[in-house]
Parts: sequence; C-alpha cells; structure tokens
Amino acid sequence: MNTFDLIVIGGGSGGLAAAQRAAEYGAKVALIESHRLGGTCVNVGCVPKKVMWYAADLAEGMREASGYGFALSAHEHDWRQLKGKRDAYIERLNGIYANNLAKRGVTLLRGRAAFADRRTVTVDSARLSAPHIIIATGGRAVVPPIPSAGLGITSDGFFELEQRPQRVAVVGSGYIAVELAGIFAALGSSTALVLRTATALKQFDAMLGESMLKILAEEGVTIHTHAVPAALEGAAGNMTLATDDGRRLGPFDCVLWAVGRASAVAGLNLSEAGVSCDADGFIQTDKYQLTSTAGIYAIGDVTGRAQLTPVAIAAGRRLSDRLFGAQADRHLDYHNIPTVVFGHPPIGTVGLTEQQARENYGDHNVTVFKSSFVPMYYAMTEHKPRCDMKLVTVGPEKRVAGVHVIGPGADEMMQGFAVAVRMGATKADFDDTVAIHPTSAEELVTMR
Ligand code: FAD
Ligand code: NDP
Repeated sequence: MNTFDLIVIGGGSGGLAAAQRAAEYGAKVALIESHRLGGTCVNVGCVPKKVMWYAADLAEGMREASGYGFALSAHEHDWRQLKGKRDAYIERLNGIYANNLAKRGVTLLRGRAAFADRRTVTVDSARLSAPHIIIATGGRAVVPPIPSAGLGITSDGFFELEQRPQRVAVVGSGYIAVELAGIFAALGSSTALVLRTATALKQFDAMLGESMLKILAEEGVTIHTHAVPAALEGAAGNMTLATDDGRRLGPFDCVLWAVGRASAVAGLNLSEAGVSCDADGFIQTDKYQLTSTAGIYAIGDVTGRAQLTPVAIAAGRRLSDRLFGAQADRHLDYHNIPTVVFGHPPIGTVGLTEQQARENYGDHNVTVFKSSFVPMYYAMTEHKPRCDMKLVTVGPEKRVAGVHVIGPGADEMMQGFAVAVRMGATKADFDDTVAIHPTSAEELVTMR
C-alpha cells in the first residue's frame, strides 16, 4: 500500500490545480489520470475550441476586409492543416503539464481510479491511501436517448473531424451549440441550429440569447425552433433529423449533439466511499467542497456547479490552501463568476440577469441601463451587426449587479468589469470613470 497526504482523481483543470498547490505546501501528492493530462479544457474543450474560434474570426475578418479597401481573392480554408497544427499544440501542452507535476514532486499514476473504501483508491493493481482524497473527474457529453443518436457526434467528435462537413446541424441551445454553430457557419458550412424551445442561452440575461439568435440568422444560420429531436435517420454522412412534431430536418453530413454534460462518476465505486450524488448524478458538496464523507472532496464539473475551467481551478487551489496551507476558511464564492460564450459575436457576462435582480430585489429596486449600437468597425463594412449592452443595478445607490454584453470585443471586455462588480461598484463609479475612446467598451461608462 502506498500512502500519501493527498490523492487526486483526475488530471484536468481542477485536479492539476489542487495537486500542484498542495505539493507547493509540501504535501505528498498522488494524481491519477486515465486519459490525457489537461482534461476536457486542454484536449477537447476551451483550448482547441478557441483555436477554431480564432480561425472563424479570421474568416469573418477576410469577409469584411473589402470594406477596408482590400481586394482579397476567394480564399480556401484548410481545415485538415489547422487540425494538425492544433493537435501538435495540444500535445505540447500535455507534455508541459506532465513536467509541471514532476517539478513539484507529484506522483502521476496512469489508469482508472476506483474507491476500495473511504481512504483507499485502486488503480489497476495498485492500492493507494490518503487521509484526503479529491474527486476531480469532470464530465462527459450527453447524447439524447433517441433512435440512432449514435450517428451524430458530440463536441469530442468535433475535434476529431478531419475535414469540415458541408451540411451541419447543431442540436442544443447552450454554450457549445452556439459556439460550434458560429464556427461552422463562419468557416463556410451550411449550418442549422436546432432548438427544442424558441430561445437560446436561457441561463443568461434574455437580451443575450435573443440577440445571438438574431445575429446568427442574419449570418445565414438556419434556426429551427420548437424542434424536439425524436430520431436520426439515414446513415453517417447523410442524415435526417426527425422531430417529435413530425418534421424531417436535413439532410445533413454531420449532426452534433450539444445538449449538456453529465458527471463522470461511472466506475468510481462512490458507494464504497459513502459519497452521494444529487438527482442529476452530480456529486454534492458543501461550500468547502466536502462531500458526504469526511476527507473526500469534489471539485469542478463533477459537482455540476458553474462548469468552467477557472472555477475548477479556483475551487481546487482554495481547497488545497485550506487543507495544507493553514487557511481555515478558504473556499470559493460561486457568486459573480464572469463568463464568455465564444460565439460569433462573443458574449461577456457577469452577475445577475435583469430577471434575477427583479426577483431578488423587487421591480422598484432595480434600474436597468441599455445600449444598442453598430460598432465603429462596421462603419466601413457591408454587414452591420449590432452590439447590445445592459447594466443591471440594484438599490437606491444603483450598485451594479450585472453586466451583459454581446458584440465584438465582449470577450476581452468582461474581466475588468467583473472586478468592479465584485468590489461593489455603483453606477456613479462607472459614470465617474473616464471613457476610452473610440471603443465599444466606453458605452458601459457612458450609459444614461
Ligand atoms: P476535466 O477537465 O474534465 O478533467 C477530468 C479528468 O479526470 C479527465 O482528464 C478524465 O480523463 C479524468 N478522469 C475521469 N474519471 C477518471 C477516473 N476514474 N480515473 C482517473 N481519471 C479519471 N470552460 C471555460 O472556462 N472556457 C471555455 O472556453 C470552455 N470551453 C469548453 C468547450 C467545450 C467543447 C467543452 C466540452 C467544455 C468547455 N469548457 C470551457 C468547460 C471546461 O472544459 C470544464 O469546465 C473543465 O475542463 C472542468 O475541469 P475538471 O477538472 O472539473 O474536469
Ligand atoms: P448547456 O448546459 O450550456 O446547454 C445545453 C442545453 O441544451 C440545455 O440548456 C437545453 O436547453 C438543451 N437541451 C438539453 N437536452 C436537450 C435535448 N434532448 N434536445 C435538445 N436540446 C436539449 O450545455 P453545453 O453542452 O452547451 O455545455 C456544457 C457546459 O460546458 C456549459 O454549461 C458550460 O459550463 C461549459 N462550457 C463552457 C464554455 C465557455 O466557457 N465558453 C464553452 C462550452 C462549454 P433548453 O432547455 O433551452 O432546450
């Protein structure tokens, strides 16, 4: 039996962060990973997605370039070449993560972990024990339980595509659906977005989903609303999506399911450890990331809360600060987490939606400021998508409780505004801040 101070199951965003921070405090740490180091974000998430987003952004830039006096001849995008470079970049990152663990003296075990009891974890024939065990096994894409759903792919399959499919349906209405539909469309695929209701991005301020669907439609994406998938028909490469009201959408070369992610707990033997999950299968924790069993913690996507890389990292680091860094009350506050949807255009958002503010504080305590404009960049171009912004303020002092932006630059705009929201800035603070001109962001400090 190998004994450690800490065992971390899962070498993704959260697990790596927790293991390394604990090792920096001098803890003897083992980290177990069954696949590639870096987890979802590095291998099949944020990183390769952002590479594709940049490619799509360039395609859009080239489309608009004639407005700025460039005479570009027809351009072809080489998807296969980009995939090769992207894969090589990620392989380099995998190596860097392994080096970082080695540098900090973390023992890396390759294989699938399972609990033998509350203090013991097995990896193949090895048995490890520790007084502290962190579960950071992340999630997996959901595929709807309908006939022939397996003909479609998920976001994992997106990153395996060797060439761009010409006719694509993206099913779903959340982050991944909007992001991947935007990428396919910008790079030239005939793209359909299939929503089971009439709206997208429901977890955000309503303005954002409405604007996104409008802009996607203007950019040529076909939006199918109230289309509940009932079956996939045909064969891979030539499919029809049947909906429960009898429609047959397609044909498509590729159907991509983007209908949410479930927790990756299969095979962990959580019952041997007394760790319980909620009704949706996510591991329940308290604010200190503690599960139902003393000494066993869960962080990141496996907990189902704010499934974002910086959240998994922050929860992991804070947990190790508490366990090994003598910071007794250290924990992650899950309020006011800023986030970006890397759509075309991007969305940046932090804090309360208008609806949440009205529910929490009452209509009379909420003042909303809005701005809608065509960014100056488009003064020279044929396409003229709008940028929409909203500030949600609460109380007589007009504390800024929510900032919501859709438009070019929203992705890079939001980090600084998130600091202001976290610090309790008021509308007067925003107004007293000198604008940066000419930018889109200046609208946020000049709203009336
Ligand atoms: P993961 O990163 O999933 O890591 C879990 C690890 O545990 C995996 O490596 C897995 O192999 C391993 N594992 C599982 N079971 C076992 C076992 N039994 N034994 C050993 N190892 C095991 N977030 C953002 O903030 N920004 C983005 O732009 C963004 N884009 C995304 C795009 C896509 C397409 C997807 C799918 C996700 C995206 N996310 C993004 C979300 C982000 O990737 C996750 O929130 C983040 O990776 C969660 O980290 P984690 O450590 O909880 O889990
Ligand atoms: P989301 O939870 O964002 O969205 C999935 C949506 O799909 C649901 O909200 C639901 O919307 C719809 N849906 C669910 N079931 C079905 C079904 N059977 N048929 C049709 N539609 C269905 O999940 P994603 O998969 O997009 O992403 C998972 C998580 O990964 C995100 O929540 C996010 O935390 C993270 N992520 C973060 C990114 C970023 O930071 N930029 C990028 C990508 C992912 P409705 O109820 O409206 O139908």
